[in-house]
Order: sequence, then structure tokens, then C-alpha cells
Amino acid sequence: MSEKYDLIVIGAGPGGYVAAIRGAQKGLHVAVVEADRAGGTCLNRGCIPTKAMIHASSLYREMNEGGRFGVYAEGVSYDYEKICEYKQETVDALVGGVQQLLKGNKVTFIEGKGTLLPPENGMNAVSVGDETYYADNIILAAGSKPASLPVEGIDLPHVVNSDGLFALDHAPESLVIIGGGVIGVEFATVFANLGSQVTILEALPKILDNFDKEISQNLKMILKKRGVDIHTSAMVKGFSETENGLVMATYEEKGKEAAAAGEYVLVAAGRRPVTEGLFADGAQPEMNGRYVKVDENYMTSIPGVYAIGDLIGGIQLAHAASAHGIRAIESICGAPATQNVAVVPAGVYTDPEIAIVGMTEAQAKDQGIDVVCGKFIMSANGKSLITKEERGFIKVVAEAGSEKILGAQMMCARATDMIGEFTTAIVNDLTVPDMLRSIMSHPTYSEGIGEALEDVHGMSLHTAPRPSRR
Ligand code: NAD
Repeated sequence: MSEKYDLIVIGAGPGGYVAAIRGAQKGLHVAVVEADRAGGTCLNRGCIPTKAMIHASSLYREMNEGGRFGVYAEGVSYDYEKICEYKQETVDALVGGVQQLLKGNKVTFIEGKGTLLPPENGMNAVSVGDETYYADNIILAAGSKPASLPVEGIDLPHVVNSDGLFALDHAPESLVIIGGGVIGVEFATVFANLGSQVTILEALPKILDNFDKEISQNLKMILKKRGVDIHTSAMVKGFSETENGLVMATYEEKGKEAAAAGEYVLVAAGRRPVTEGLFADGAQPEMNGRYVKVDENYMTSIPGVYAIGDLIGGIQLAHAASAHGIRAIESICGAPATQNVAVVPAGVYTDPEIAIVGMTEAQAKDQGIDVVCGKFIMSANGKSLITKEERGFIKVVAEAGSEKILGAQMMCARATDMIGEFTTAIVNDLTVPDMLRSIMSHPTYSEGIGEALEDVHGMSLHTAPRPSRR
């Protein structure tokens, strides 16, 4: 019999590698099974490479716009190959770091594709190739992959998903993006910055449809200003090749047939859990549609077998997967929960950035919760004026009466960093007066948080008095 472990983790993405390290820190004998490099989608094909591309492409745009600050650069250009090299170096450094951490924590790295087997003699089991490994506990963290579209022409060579787009050796002259979700708007930001002609086709009435309405509207305006052509309520029906080598996407927009052509088409229409080959016959736990069903500790219907991250549906974010992994380890070790996994902040790395946590005003109202809200327009924020930011805002939603913080929505520079203040407030049941006890340093973007909180009481110092309050 192969060596027996306390824990085998299938998948070394941000869910799996975090669970493996935390398990080892807690004294468990751990193995992680991974068919690719450590780091999963987030490090290799998702969050990290995209943010590197956003950073490089934004720098290029900002250099071209330096005249706004009296700074002029001549002959500003970019070398796409070099941008990709920088992106890959960043990815490699982080992947190398994760590999070192696994090694340093004495986690065995088993290369190959792991398949859950039915329990044998009371032990859970995983096969990798011809080998079988046994463990008391197994965490399934196999992640997700880009969803395809069931439409004609999806296999054309210039119709790619985010993985395919990363593999290009040049920035396409024109790009049609199917889906105005998070991936769609982030790639639109990158390629519009680099001068590509970008079109977004989104089936729903808004881009970033599940975000606050004002965020979607503002982003649409800003992207349009940067030359992005955006069509909403536009359902894509198929793709074909044109005579001049472009790809034509046909879509139905408000009942009418229309078409958009580009050198490449990016399909960014959601992601699907990776369950193919994950379960041997008789080893599939109860499912929730295509997702693995779990309890509050992320245990599946099979005792000792857990599932985390994109495999279980819900919020598909790296940090949510990591939090699930930590909770699963705490459950395995009989330790109390240290994190509130119900409150998950989310960030979109457009320019300006977008970040949300908790409830919007509309969601609170839908749930019958009486709320008070505060809002600050960042054009009155000193730091935003210095850096000439696009029009942005910070909104806070609190329970009426108690003024307990319920949610926040931000669209401004550094929003993805600042949202943490509200996450801390929500998980600790802080109120508006609790948050207002902190003095904000000046000049900072975070002064906008204080102003939005003050606005709950109609006391924002840098907002013109509302007539109703006179
Ligand atoms: P998504 O679900 O956010 O957006 C997909 C969009 O495609 C939807 O708005 C949908 O209406 C649209 N769509 C689907 N079929 C269509 C069709 N035939 N025609 C036109 N539009 C169509 O999915 P995504 O953007 O692919 O992202 C996948 C996951 O990855 C998400 O859960 C996202 O949160 C996560 N992600 C997060 C970040 C981040 O946190 N910054 C970045 C990238 C991805």
C-alpha cells in the first residue's frame, strides 16, 4: 500500500495550496495532487497575469496622457512580447514561491491528475495514474475552466477563451468580447489601453449586471470614452470567418440581427467546474447541478471528503476558495471557524477600480431591511483631484436605527485595497459611529470612506449641502 496521509488535496490553486499549507501548519501529513504547475488558474491563467497586463497597459495609456500633468514623453510605444515576458516573470515568481512554501511545509507534491475513488477499508482514496494514495481526509479543489458557448463557429481558430488570449503573440488590432462580466471588462481595459478596437457584446441589459446599477452605468460611460463599443441586451448566436480573415460574431440585439467583426473573438461567458475525471465510478458525491454539494464546513456527502472553491458554485473568487480551504482544515482539526466566509469582498481591476462587499441598497430593500445610506463623490477628494481620476464614488449601506454596516460599493482609485475597511466592519458588526471614530490621514483616497460615512448623517464636509437639509 502507498504511503497513507492525513490529508490529500486535489488541485494546487488558491483553494488547494492554501488548504495544504494550513493543514501542514496544523501538523497534518499532507499531499497535494496537481496535473499542472502550482497556483491554479489564479496564478497561471487568471488574476495574476491579467493584473500584470492591466498594470503594463495602464502605464502605456498614462504615459500617453502625461500632458495632463505637464509631463511629455515622445515616441511612447510598447513591445507586446516584452509585456508578456514581464507578465510571465511575475507569474513564475509567484508560482515558484508557492512551490517553495509547499516544500518548506513538507507537503508532498504528486504530479498528475487525481481521481477520487470509493472508500476502501474505511479510508478515503485517490488514484493518480496507476498509483493509489490513501488519506483520512480529501479536499477536492479542482477549480473551473472557461465555459464554451453552444453556438456555430465556436471552434474557429480565432475564437478564443481567456487562456487562448494570453497565448497570443501580439495585441489584436480588433477584439470582439462576448460577455460583459468581470473577465470581459478587465480584458477590454487591457486591449483598449493598448489601442485595439474593442467591442463588448453582453446578453444582459447591463455590463457587470450583478453589480450596483451606478457602477455598471459609470463603467459603460468610461469604457465608451476610451473607444470601446458596447452592446447590451445582445445575445451572440454564432461566429463565421469573413473574406478578409476576420471573425464575425452575429448577435440579436433587442429583436434585431446584427454583427460585429474582429481579428479575434474572446469568449468570456462564465466558468464551469472541472469535474471530468474527478470521480471514479461509485465515488461521485451528491451534486447540486454541475457543482459539488457541501455543508457549512465544505464536507461533501462522503464523510471526510471536502470540496472547495469554484467546484461548489457560488462566488468564483480566489480568496473565497482560500477561505473555504482554511475552514475545511479547521473542521478536519476540530478547530473553531476563524473567518466569516459569508462576507466576501470582490474587486474588478478596471480603471477606476471597482470593489464591493455585503449588500447594496436595492438588495437590502428586496430583503425588507430598512436602511440608511451615505455616498461621497470622489471628485471632491483631494487625492483624486491630484491624480485626475475619473468620476468615482463610495457608497455605504447601513441598517436603519442601529447603523450597523451592511455593505459598501466603491468605484475609485485603490477601491480594491480600500474595500477591506468595510469587510472588517461588517464581520465585526461595526456601526457607522464605530467607523467614524478613526481619523483618516490626508490627503488619501480613504478620506472618501469617512465622507461617505458622514453622509449617512448628512454631515459630509466636502459635499454641498442638500436643499432638504437647510
Ligand atoms: P461572468 O459570469 O462574470 O460574465 C459572463 C457574462 O457573459 C455574463 O454577463 C453573461 O450574461 C454573458 N454571456 C453569456 N452568454 C452570452 C452570449 N451568448 N452572448 C452575450 N453575452 C453572453 O463570467 P466571466 O466574466 O467569464 O468570469 C468568470 C468568473 O471568474 C466570475 O465568477 C468572475 O467573478 C471570476 N473572475 C473574477 C475576477 C476578479 O475578481 N477581478 C476577474 C476575472 C474573473
